[in-house]
Amino acid sequence: MSDTTVKRVPIESQKRLRGLMRDYFVDLDAAAKDTDRRVAWCTSVGPTEILTAFGFDVFFPENHGALLGTRKVSHKLIPRAVGAGYCPETCSYMNSDIGASLNGWSPLQDIYGIDGPPAPDLLVYNTNQCREVQDWFKFFSTRHDASILGVRPPLYLGEVTDEHVTFVKGQLRELIGAIERQFELKLDEAKLEESVAKSSKACSLWREVLETARQRPAPLSFWDGLILMAPVILMRGSDMAIDFYEEMLAEMNQRLAGGVGAVPDERFRIYWEGMPVWPRIRELSEKFFDLRAVVAASTYCNSWAFADFEGGDPLEWMARTSLEIFINRDEVYKQQFLSERFDEFSIDGAIFHNARTCPNNTNSRFGMAQRVREEMGLPVLVLDGDLTDIRFFSTSQSMTNIEAFIEQLEAHRS
Ligand code: SF4
Repeated sequence: MSDTTVKRVPIESQKRLRGLMRDYFVDLDAAAKDTDRRVAWCTSVGPTEILTAFGFDVFFPENHGALLGTRKVSHKLIPRAVGAGYCPETCSYMNSDIGASLNGWSPLQDIYGIDGPPAPDLLVYNTNQCREVQDWFKFFSTRHDASILGVRPPLYLGEVTDEHVTFVKGQLRELIGAIERQFELKLDEAKLEESVAKSSKACSLWREVLETARQRPAPLSFWDGLILMAPVILMRGSDMAIDFYEEMLAEMNQRLAGGVGAVPDERFRIYWEGMPVWPRIRELSEKFFDLRAVVAASTYCNSWAFADFEGGDPLEWMARTSLEIFINRDEVYKQQFLSERFDEFSIDGAIFHNARTCPNNTNSRFGMAQRVREEMGLPVLVLDGDLTDIRFFSTSQSMTNIEAFIEQLEAHRS
C-alpha cells in the first residue's frame, strides 16, 4: 500500500509519451500493410541508424517482451515457447514473445487497435548484448520467411581498441552491402550521417535527463525512467525523440528549480543494477516511495546514453558505441563504472537484480556484489527475480528484504 499522506507530483512528459507511442505503433502497423514500405526488426542496441537510413520502419521486439512483462502475462505465454523447444530458463523476453506469436495475440491489439507486431521484411541483430537475440530473431525470420542479418562484435571487452572498432565497422559495411543486394537499394551516406547525428542527439539529451537525478531531491527515479526511455530506443534517429527529450529535460530542470522530487523528503539514494522486474514495477516503486528511498540511478536506463557523435565517419560512431556498452564489458570495467556512478549520484546502497533468465544483464553472479560491499563499503542487496517471469520473483520476500535493506542503510548512516 502506498502512503497516501505524501503525494507524488506526476511527470508531465508521461502524458506526451502516450501520444507518441500511439503514433509510432499505428504508423508501424500501416507500414506493414503498405507494399511500398518495408519493416525491419532490430535489437535494442543494434544498428538501427543504418535501417533508418535505408528507409525501413523499425520495430524492437525487446520492447514487446517488456510490454508482455508489464501486462503480467509472460508466465502464461512462455510454456508455448517451451513446447516449441525453448528452455524455460532462457531469456523470458524471447520466450514470451515467441509464445505470444504462437498464440496469435499481442497487447498491442488492445492498446492501439492494431494487428500486433508488424511482420518484418528483414531482421537485424547485434550480439553485443547476448547471443539469445540471434536465436530469437532466427525463430521469427523462419516464421515470417524474412531475411535475417547480424553483427557479431568481440565480447566482454576491457579496453575498446581501434582494432575492435575497425573489425565491427567491417561487419557494418558487410551488413550495408547485404541489404543493398537483397533489397536492391543504395545507401544514402548523407542520410546515414543524419540518422547517426539524430541518434546521438537523442542519446545525449537522455543522458542529461538521467543526470538531473544527481541532484537532491532527484526529479525522476529509475521507475519513471523505465517508462520514459521508450523514445530513445524506439525512435532513435528521429526528430520525435529529440523533441521529446528536449521538452523532458526542460521539465526536469523546472522540477529541480522548484525542489520537486520523485520521492519527496528523500532519505536514501539507491542504485539499481541489472534488469527491471517489469511485472512488479508499480509495487516496487510504491515500496521505495513509502520508504522515502529514491532509486536515483541504474545501469539499465543508462544503456542508451551513448557517447556524442562529433562528426566524421558515422560507422565509426556506430561501431564504437555498440562495443562500449556496459553489457559488453569485462568485470573490471563494470566495477569501475559502477564505482563512479555511486559517487556521482551520492548512492547510499546498491541493489543487484539476479534476473534468472538473463545472465547477460546480471552482474551479481561472479562476486561483484560482494566486492562492492567489501571494497567500497557500500551496503548491497541481491534480489532474486526475473525481467518478466513472475514465477521467479517472490513479491512478499522481496519487499521484506527491501525493508530490511533500508534499515541497514539507516544503521550504516548513523
Ligand atoms: S540481454 Fe537478456 S533480456 Fe535482453 S535479449 Fe539478451 S537475454 Fe534477453
